[in-house]
Amino acid sequence: GIYMDWNATAPLRPAALAAMSAALAEFGNASSVHAFGRRARAWIDQAREEVAALVGARASLVTFTSGGTEANNLALLSRGARPLVTTAIEHESVLKPARLAGAEVARVARSGEIDVAHLSYLIDRASDRAGKPAFVSVMLANNETGVIQPVAEIARLAHTKGALVHCDATQAVGRVPVDINELGVDYMTLSAHKLGGPQGAGALILGDDLPVEPLVIGGGQERNRRAGTENVAAIAGFGAAAKEARALHDMDRIADLRDHLEDRLVSFGQPVTVFGRNVPRLPNTTCFASGTKTSETLVMALDLSGIAISAGSACSSGKVRPSHVISAMGFDAATAGSAIRVSLGWQNDIADIDSFIAAWGRVQRAGPARSDAADA
Ligand code: PLP
Repeated sequence: GIYMDWNATAPLRPAALAAMSAALAEFGNASSVHAFGRRARAWIDQAREEVAALVGARASLVTFTSGGTEANNLALLSRGARPLVTTAIEHESVLKPARLAGAEVARVARSGEIDVAHLSYLIDRASDRAGKPAFVSVMLANNETGVIQPVAEIARLAHTKGALVHCDATQAVGRVPVDINELGVDYMTLSAHKLGGPQGAGALILGDDLPVEPLVIGGGQERNRRAGTENVAAIAGFGAAAKEARALHDMDRIADLRDHLEDRLVSFGQPVTVFGRNVPRLPNTTCFASGTKTSETLVMALDLSGIAISAGSACSSGKVRPSHVISAMGFDAATAGSAIRVSLGWQNDIADIDSFIAAWGRVQRAGPARSDAADA
């Protein structure tokens, strides 16, 4: 099969697998003072340095978590009494807790970029109502469209209003340069499995020594920011993947593949909407809609051709619903409901793009237009 769903998860890098196997072959509780414990501690310390270096952070400000979801939850919980302001295109692991907290949710433009003026207005309104400066959560790169958000600009603006800023950089690291100090954000989320580390590991990273309100309480691990005996092997794999991801190796080649795919798509005659095509985007991601077949039909038909892609976000239930991101960008239900995402990685080559285009052509020719839409 041909894997073109790297924003859902990436294959484990050989270096990550090697680090994990080595860490698993040893044992020891990192909190123990004896030699066994010190070896476990050394794996974690080394990984903490690598993960910090990936985003130019201080190692002491990295908290390992069970993944990006937990890191996002942890960041939002750490806002204290500050009112929450976020955007309509965040990942569910930000949006769901944000909705529960009664957050203000900023609009996005048709390009997929956050409406910064609206966000600014909401920060003011939320702070006025609460009598406290806000806590802002904005993602760096959207998982569905790949659109890169003006986070440095938003952080500068938010800080002039006394707000704190959290950035979910899960999809950006390893694909574009990410520096926590250049972005000027206070909290940053990473997930190991998007960059070739294991699933079930992530980090919340602080820009400065700010409070973290623990979500998991118990022992004093992770400087009291996250209790529980550490998942040493997963953390070691995360560190090894982070070390390799820093080089952004292959990203120019991957961007060329993506651009080639988009150029060929428009050659089928029917109009194709490529979301966010004219704004800064991740080099590996393209999200588009032809409005002819539903996302679900397309994903299944391509799967039969051995090609793995996704319909906007991969919903954990396995059910495909029209993307909240494409809808928030102002596209109609037929367009949102026919959007698919192709996301590439280091294993893809030009032959994969050719296979995709051939399969896409077959799927488009099969059956009358929108024959599958009525009962969707
Ligand atoms: N944030 C974004 C933007 C994502 O794409 C994902 C991916 O699922 C997550 C957070 C959640 O990360 P994890 O799968 O490690 O919980």
